[in-house]
Amino acid sequence: TTQQQWRPFNRSRVYMADLESALHYSLRVELAAHPVISGDNLSSLKRYISVLAKYFPGRPMVKNLLQSVNAWLTERGDSELLYSSLQDMLDNTGQIPDAVLPEGVKWVGCQGTQPHFRGFPCSMWTLFHVLTVQAIKTPGAQPLQVLQALRAYVHSFFGCRACASHFETMAREDMNRVSGLSTAALWLWYRHNRVNNRLAGDLSEDPAFPKIQWPPPELCPRCHTVKRNGDHSWNQEEVLKFLKEYFSSERLLQDYLE
Ligand code: FAD
Repeated sequence: TTQQQWRPFNRSRVYMADLESALHYSLRVELAAHPVISGDNLSSLKRYISVLAKYFPGRPMVKNLLQSVNAWLTERGDSELLYSSLQDMLDNTGQIPDAVLPEGVKWVGCQGTQPHFRGFPCSMWTLFHVLTVQAIKTPGAQPLQVLQALRAYVHSFFGCRACASHFETMAREDMNRVSGLSTAALWLWYRHNRVNNRLAGDLSEDPAFPKIQWPPPELCPRCHTVKRNGDHSWNQEEVLKFLKEYFSSERLLQDYLE
């Protein structure tokens, strides 16, 4: 076995390499476990791809690939999809110019200190925070579109089935009450913290990346306030500003890309 070299990275930044790795892993590894995709799963796939085609702030060749896959999926009316035909589209066997989904995973901000830590689940959270923030900046975006795509993807395909059932429970509680794009970004942030809280100290926690209520005061002092009785509370307006900056497309680092 080859020991992966640690890639130095800035812990307070977001890396395109993780986002592209999330695409590769979800589309070429998790989906490949479903040789035939139909019914609910097919609509989940369509929601996921259409959100990626619309909001993924990628390199031009990656956006082109996602848009071509989306157009292809939207046009075909069949009730069943063979994964192998999707795979041909992902690998661009039709040789559409300047359209590529890079092969393989390269975790950077989502590296774990052991192979079973972090990686793909970390990159899915990151991807969807980025997408909710992109939607805020997109005129005409529908408030629930990104969250529904995440919910559908996780429900149909996310390999961690316990995660999927936890997430579905949270979504069922109140996701449909989200009425605006900013509220959608905040909903995901808040639920992610609930998951962090539940998993703090769990065996799945990488000791070098403890589960905390995020963003910590070092990252965003203004996000935190103390109530008169001494309890902590979030300043959601500041959290929203912070999310929009932290996950913004202009701030994504392009290190380690081929
Ligand atoms: P992650 O929680 O994956 O976070 C990735 C990065 O996002 C962090 O490093 C930080 O920079 C940033 N971040 C952290 N918190 C927030 C926040 N609140 N808002 C915005 N950004 C933040 N694992 C289980 O064991 N049980 C589960 O039920 C479970 N449910 C999951 C549901 C979903 C939808 C997903 C995507 C993952 C789930 N996981 C679950 C996996 C788990 O949440 C972590 O992704 C995994 O343990 C890796 O943790 P991590 O340290 O890389 O940080």
